Parts: sequence; C-alpha cells; structure tokens
Amino acid sequence: MDQEVNIIGAGFAGSEAAWQLANRGIKVNLYDMKPIKMSSAHQSENFAEVVCSNSLGSQTEGNASALIKQELKILNSLVMEAAEFTKVPAGGALAVDRDKFSQYVTDKISSHNMITVHREEVTEIDINKVTIIATGPLTSKGLSESITKITGEEYFHFFDAAAPIVEYDSLDFNIIFKQSRYDKGDGFYLNCPFDKEQYQNFWDELTKAELAPVKDFDEYETNKNFFEGCMPIEVLAKRGIDTPRFGPLKPVGLTDPRTGGRAYAVVQLRQDNAAASLYNLVGFQTQLKWGEQKRVFRMIPGLENAEFVRFGVMHRNAYINSPKLLNANMQLRKHPNIFIAGLLTGVEGYIESCAMGALAGINAYLHLQNREALVFPKTTMMGALSRYVSNPEITTNFQPINSNWGIMQELDEKIRDKKQRNIVYTQRGVKDFELIANSSLYAIN
Ligand SMILES: Cc1cc2nc3c(=O)[nH]c(=O)nc-3n(C[C@H](O)[C@H](O)[C@H](O)COP(=O)(O)OP(=O)(O)OC[C@H]3O[C@@H](n4cnc5c(N)ncnc54)[C@H](O)[C@@H]3O)c2cc1C
Repeated sequence: MDQEVNIIGAGFAGSEAAWQLANRGIKVNLYDMKPIKMSSAHQSENFAEVVCSNSLGSQTEGNASALIKQELKILNSLVMEAAEFTKVPAGGALAVDRDKFSQYVTDKISSHNMITVHREEVTEIDINKVTIIATGPLTSKGLSESITKITGEEYFHFFDAAAPIVEYDSLDFNIIFKQSRYDKGDGFYLNCPFDKEQYQNFWDELTKAELAPVKDFDEYETNKNFFEGCMPIEVLAKRGIDTPRFGPLKPVGLTDPRTGGRAYAVVQLRQDNAAASLYNLVGFQTQLKWGEQKRVFRMIPGLENAEFVRFGVMHRNAYINSPKLLNANMQLRKHPNIFIAGLLTGVEGYIESCAMGALAGINAYLHLQNREALVFPKTTMMGALSRYVSNPEITTNFQPINSNWGIMQELDEKIRDKKQRNIVYTQRGVKDFELIANSSLYAIN
C-alpha cells in the first residue's frame, strides 16, 4: 500500500493530523477548500482558523482542558507550538492572536517537505485510499452527502454562535477596569461593571432584541438544539433575569476600583490580538441582528461608543453518530481506510478537535504499517474523550463533549478536596500518557 494519506480539511484537526503523519515520514495530501470556497464562519485563507473566541481554554493545573494540552505537548503538537508562540495575556486561559496563530500553522504546514497542499473542495471519498476527514462543523454540502453515503447515517447537529469583537480605542476607561478574576494568571481582562438599574435595563432590551434569520431556520425554531457551553447570550437571558449574573456576567472575584466593592454584574472583555487593539466579549455569542448587537451591547457600561470590528453569528454545527460508526482510534468501523477527526467526531472545542486530529493521524500511520491501533487509556483525557465518543452503549441523544473529569477513569483513592483530586487526575494522566506516547512503539524517531 502507498505510504500516503489524504486529509480533507486543514482546520485544527486536519493540520494536526498532517503534522503527526508527516513527522512520521508519511506523505500527506492536505485538501482545504479555502479560499476558493469559504464556509459561513471562516474568513481567512490560513489553516487552523480561530473562528470565534480566541481562547483555547484553561491552562491552570487541575483543569480538564489543561490536561489535554499537556498531552498534546507530549506529542509535539503543532497547534500547541503555534499557541505558545502567539499567545496573548488572558489570566488562567491560553488565548492567542488569531491571525498570527493561523499564519504560524500555515507556514509550518506549507513548508513541510512531506506535505502537499491542495486548495480545492473535496466532494467524493475514495474508500480504498487512506483518508482522514476533518472538515469540521461547517463541512461543505457536497462532502456531507458523501459522508452520509458511506456511513449510511444522517448527521447530527446542534446550533452554535460566535461572539463580537470591539476596538480597544473605542472603550471608556473612566468606567472599565483592568483585572483578572481573583487575580489569577499573568494577564487581565477588561471589566465593564453594571449597577442594578443598568443591568435591568440591559436585560430588558437583550431579551426583546430582534434575532437574525439562520439557515435551517425551521429546525432551529423547533429544536433550539444548543450546546450548553456555547449558548447565545440572549437565550441564556431569557431563562431568567439573574441567569446571566450567575453565568458569564458573574461579578465575583472582581473589585471595581471606583467603588471599592463588587459590581451588580460584570461583562468581561478578553484580549484578541497581540497588539491588544481588539477585545472580544466573553460569553456573548449571539444570534441578534447586527444592528441590534450594536444597540444593545452599547448599553454595557464602558461600551457606549464601542466600535465593532466583528459581529456575532449563528451557525449549524455538524457531527457524525460516532458511537455507532467510529472506533476509539478514529477509524470508521465499516471502512478501515477512513478516519474521522476533529469536531465531526462529536468532540467540542478547538483543542479537543486538534487532539482527535493527532489521534487520527497517528492511527492512520499505524494502519499503513499494519500495526495495532493506538487507543490511550481512560486515565488520560485523549483516551477518555475518544472512548466516550466511540462508546457503542450510547444509543440515543449523543451530544458533543469537551474535556471534563466526569468521563475519566475514577481514582483508586477517594480524595474529598476537589482541587487536590483534579491535580491527582492530572498527574496520573500525564504519567500514563507519557509512558505510551514516548515508548519506542509510537514516538517519532
Ligand atoms: C462560528 C463558530 C464558532 C465557534 N466558537 C468556538 C469557540 O469559541 N471555542 C471553541 O473551542 N470552539 C468553537 N467552535 C468550534 C470550532 O470550530 C472547533 O472547535 C474547531 O475549529 C473544529 O476544528 P476542526 O478541525 O474539526 O474544523 P475546522 O477548524 O472548522 O476546519 C475544517 C476545515 O475544513 C475545510 N473544509 C470544509 N469542507 C471541505 C471540503 N468539502 N473540502 C475541503 N475542505 C473543506 C474548511 O475550510 C476548514 O478549513 C466554533 C465553531 C464555529 C463554526
């Protein structure tokens, strides 16, 4: 068999898969339809595009998302390397300058002598060629139909939304203060403090504001099928006046220097680029009409004259019925030459998608070599996630999932203190992951 793999999609998963394969000496044909055809959310022609929040999640030890990052670093992940080079201050989170980050990944991929980049839309899958499908939540229609054809299954999907970005220079620093919650991490957020009356007026307008139409609108109206972790702010607000105050607008751990006390509610802005000229509204993914976003979000104290460089959008998010179709090594059960990676597998998040790309890449390599598949143990986050999405016991209501301690193998010892318990989970995970990834069976020579 040819020592060659086709990868469709050069997002977080496809780029990482290409990197893992190419560094193991396998020739890669990497296909991406950008810039010839752009999805409704992608805007740049670069790879591993950060389409919404520029945060790649927590990097605080004891956080589930931090463990999967450590695992990826052990695999010499390109995405983690790029994040390290292009990070911007964001407290306990790992946030990146989105343009520099994607440029870094694109440069490394394009200059790798084992990778050939093809800028074209793929609509057909050849089940006789080793192929990784990593086309993400906005897989083009033509390819979606081919995936349905080879899996014999309809897609699942939920609706997801992106948050707006504003210009730093347009913000009012007589009101906004810089601080990170509980003074955690090395960076800070910009905090917009509300008093009670301001908050009530804002909530009133937010819940009444006009929504933009979405594609597949009928389905959206009837299903309102959101991923809980990425719920539009107006949907959250409609659950009750105090719901946002206990969610993204929580004021705890922040002291307004003007009053010396805690505000009634706080909107946080996170640095979005290295120049610190752009900030995104944390937790403000939204489906409001653009004009309404401007009107309502300018009611946030300090944003009265905010200039919006990007508005929030709503989109459909596709993933396959992995528990029925996929092995834990990311290989289709019915078609051993075909691997699925990234968000399509039913994981949620940039880093989780990247991790499923790394796993698919390594397993496509092992498959070419006629070697046993690699499935990490459930004591590691990569292992727990891949085993979760491919668990055949999930027969109904399969929902996308991100890194969390609930899917891991329980600890042998009972540890009451949650913080301590999560640190022990982390230490066990890193140790087990390292042992396998660095063994002579899988390590890159
Ligand atoms: C609007 C939006 C907001 C999001 N917000 C967040 C967030 O805030 N935080 C978070 O962690 N995650 C977020 N996500 C999820 C995010 O997409 C994933 O976390 C991650 O980007 C998925 O990685 P992936 O590699 O699977 O897909 P992608 O990164 O989307 O990459 C897929 C690639 O495949 C290409 N492609 C598609 N079809 C074809 C085809 N037929 N032929 C060739 N190329 C094709 C696309 O051009 C794209 O480059 C968001 C997603 C969207 C769409």
